[in-house]
Amino acid sequence: MARKPLIAGNWKMNNTIGEAVVLAQEISNEMEPDWLDAVDVAVFPPFTDLKPVYTVFEFDKLGVAVGAQNVFWEPSGAYTGEISIPMLRGIGCAYCIVGHSERRQYFGETNEDVNRKVAALVADGTQRIDPIVCVGESLAVRDEGSYLEFVEAQVKAAFAGIDAEAAAHAVVAYEPIWAIGTGRTATPEQAQEVCGAIRETLSALFGDVAAQMRVLYGGSMNEGNAELLLSQPDIDGGLVGGASLKAASFIQIVKAAL
Ligand code: PEP
Repeated sequence: MARKPLIAGNWKMNNTIGEAVVLAQEISNEMEPDWLDAVDVAVFPPFTDLKPVYTVFEFDKLGVAVGAQNVFWEPSGAYTGEISIPMLRGIGCAYCIVGHSERRQYFGETNEDVNRKVAALVADGTQRIDPIVCVGESLAVRDEGSYLEFVEAQVKAAFAGIDAEAAAHAVVAYEPIWAIGTGRTATPEQAQEVCGAIRETLSALFGDVAAQMRVLYGGSMNEGNAELLLSQPDIDGGLVGGASLKAASFIQIVKAAL
């Protein structure tokens, strides 16, 4: 089954409102309208920049989507500092990153937290916010050789208790921790091996639905390596950090997915 690629730019904790609007405008200016027929494009600004960035893309009508970098699973209540799914819906988010390795590492997010967030996101399909579930092994796990089992366990934990119909629009991003922000990209073969294993795991969980679920690669993807990575059979796009902060680099990666 042909899956439409997704290029997702994770801005992390970068860009004040003014800087975010300029970057969104630069991306918009360099996009050709028909590209969005062939590739989905989304950016993930910090919460404070979501609405202004959404407004830039809405005005330009190109179809570039915005997503959040995180969410809490409860719809409302006494959870100081948290942001809920209805709040993200209210500002037009189409996607939400869940379980990024930086959240697991610095903010103690567990597989159980990831599962609760994914379950909450896929529970209500009225105005979809598709989760992008991040998985990936550390260098120690890679060197020790059990990385396929490790990633498979993360995928199973993230989707525990979720049925195929609910999971159908979820995205999984394979992001080996040793490749994030390090300039050390996984080779296309390394990335394909794990993305293929992720699809097998999804297939064991969800049957035929797995063939329509997108699996992304993330980890120092840039304009120089994107084309080869994106040509792998089980890599359906990229989750791009550093290279998404410069419009010209991000656009080159989008072009590589066309
Ligand atoms: C990321 O944080 O999701 C990421 C892949 O970062 P980078 O592209 O900078 O390695």
